[in-house]
Amino acid sequence: MAIKDKPKTPRNRQIANILFLLAGLFFLANLLLPSFFGPQIPRVPYSMFIDQVQDGKVNRAQVGQDEIRYQLKGEDSQPGQVLSTTPIFDLELPQRLEKNGVEFAAVPPPKGNWFSTLLGWIIPPLIFVGILQFFAGRFGAGAPQGALSITKSKAKVYVEGESTKVTFADVAGVEEAKTELVEVVDFLKSPQRFINIGAKIPKGVLLVGPPGTGKTLLAKAVAGEAGVAFFSISGSEFVELFVGAGAARVRDLFEQAKQKAPCIVFIDELDAIGKSRAGGGGFVGGNDEREQTLNQLLTEMDGFAVGEATVIVLAATNRPEVLDPALLRPGRFDRQVLVDRPDLAGRLKILEIYANKVKLGGDIDLKAIATRTPGFAGADLANLVNEAALLAARNRREQVSQADFAEAIERVVAGLEKKSRVLSDKEKTIVAYHEVGHALVGAAMPGGGKVAKISIVPRGMAALGYTLQLPTEDRFLMDEAEIRGQIATLLGGRSAEEVVFGSITTGASNDLQRATDLAEQMVTTYGMSKVLGPLAYDKGQSNQFLGNSAMNPRRMVSDETAKAIDDEVKEIVETAHRQAVELLNKNRDLLEKIAQQILEVEVIEGEQLQNLLNQVQSLDKATAAIGS
Ligand code: ADP
Ligand code: MG
Ligand code: ZN
Repeated sequence: MAIKDKPKTPRNRQIANILFLLAGLFFLANLLLPSFFGPQIPRVPYSMFIDQVQDGKVNRAQVGQDEIRYQLKGEDSQPGQVLSTTPIFDLELPQRLEKNGVEFAAVPPPKGNWFSTLLGWIIPPLIFVGILQFFAGRFGAGAPQGALSITKSKAKVYVEGESTKVTFADVAGVEEAKTELVEVVDFLKSPQRFINIGAKIPKGVLLVGPPGTGKTLLAKAVAGEAGVAFFSISGSEFVELFVGAGAARVRDLFEQAKQKAPCIVFIDELDAIGKSRAGGGGFVGGNDEREQTLNQLLTEMDGFAVGEATVIVLAATNRPEVLDPALLRPGRFDRQVLVDRPDLAGRLKILEIYANKVKLGGDIDLKAIATRTPGFAGADLANLVNEAALLAARNRREQVSQADFAEAIERVVAGLEKKSRVLSDKEKTIVAYHEVGHALVGAAMPGGGKVAKISIVPRGMAALGYTLQLPTEDRFLMDEAEIRGQIATLLGGRSAEEVVFGSITTGASNDLQRATDLAEQMVTTYGMSKVLGPLAYDKGQSNQFLGNSAMNPRRMVSDETAKAIDDEVKEIVETAHRQAVELLNKNRDLLEKIAQQILEVEVIEGEQLQNLLNQVQSLDKATAAIGS
């Protein structure tokens, strides 16, 4: 893709700015200094001047607009003293001077008058602009292109060019995201088809995922596939020194985009402007600018009507949780596409893409490399291939060997381990048993829904692995046994660690949190406790829409009741835990089998998973009944 952007030379600009400033100061000094340090003429009151005229003491006078200079008559052929006064509006002055024999004249117009006027009028504004520019150049992300372009958008425009076009073929390992974005390409290519049927074309698509997973690349690929222009700007570039510049920049960006429609506007790091306005960010002051920019963005997104111009806004963030809810409303970024770290198969595909670009030796086993790199994002893998090629070149070899890759992995891993993204083999094993524990208990217990996927690829920010359960049908009501089943499932992970390793890790804390919450709700919200009876002990969830259902204040209860609630919650959780452990012990062989399998492939899903989970032996009714 050709990048249309004027070459910037920030260094030269800064030097030019400084010279400009110095020149300005020099002129200013020239204008001001003479009046400071010029010969000082004593100033007298006007009345004294008139007295002296009437007394015939004045020899001659020079009458100017705002000063009268006059010389007294000298004594003994000495020239008289020169004095000055400020004139007042006095029409009789000429007559008075004439009557008293004073030689008088008006001040001759100063030489180069037009020049100094010019200086007076042109230089100060120039200096002002110069200073502005100086600061803009210093603090702005880039250098604006002219005196008045502070507010111009700095969007880079990629126009499709056959040779450098990015397509979906260049992106691998993020199949779900690709499937969703194919639709966006359709919108861009033939919007009429959708408009004719009365469908609204989505305006905004938010790509969510950790850094380096290919969000920017995907956005470019959408533009490339659809053959449309691609405007790209980073959220942090909107946030500027000058209040209002960010908003103006948004306006300008969309103005340009509409002219090029159909096209894609890509906003990277959306969280830089899209942070929730309701406090949260911990910003004090300096918030206004971002807020204005955000408001402008919302206005622009609401502004372009369907059919008028197909501008689709793609945005990327790795912190969707901080985004302002207004951004995620229908009509704005209502579609969210998860771009996650690739699994084993995905990593293999990405490696294939990049390995094609270097000369490989015959001993290369990409599958083995993919197996050794769980947690690597696309960018890490691209980097890995490059590191390996560099190593080979450094050792003056013609081709990259498997040993180069092994060494490169170690280097890259060392870097990533600091960011705690790579699991050691031991950790990986623990995570595998933990997740299979969830899955087995989930499959055996009522209420959990179908276990659809087990993965030990580190995902998102916190989870090291995950077990995905899909509800078998839409459920609005759950009975007691089902909630107990869910609690047991949540505890399944930790229970598996206990059963297999005899110890537990910190990885289960989120599970425990959720299990305890559920148990507490059973007692305080749903009235499911036999001891405490059908009473609601909490105050209802008034704030559910704002999503902070964590706040769950209790009704005023007596100390005994509070203790009874705690006991009951504990009892529920412990019973569920007992059941989970028992179940896992009963299915110990299956646990082992699935865990070994997942350690090999990292992700098990679909039919393969169902076949395995169908072998789970439930607890007999007698034992299962103990808890309830
Ligand atoms: P993000 O925007 O998600 O942080 P980028 O799209 O900027 O990540 O990725 C940086 C680089 O890493 C890309 O230019 C590409 O070379 C490589 N890369 C990342 N993800 C992938 C992927 N899924 N497939 C192929 N290459 C990828
Ligand atoms: Mg990016
Ligand atoms: Zn867990």
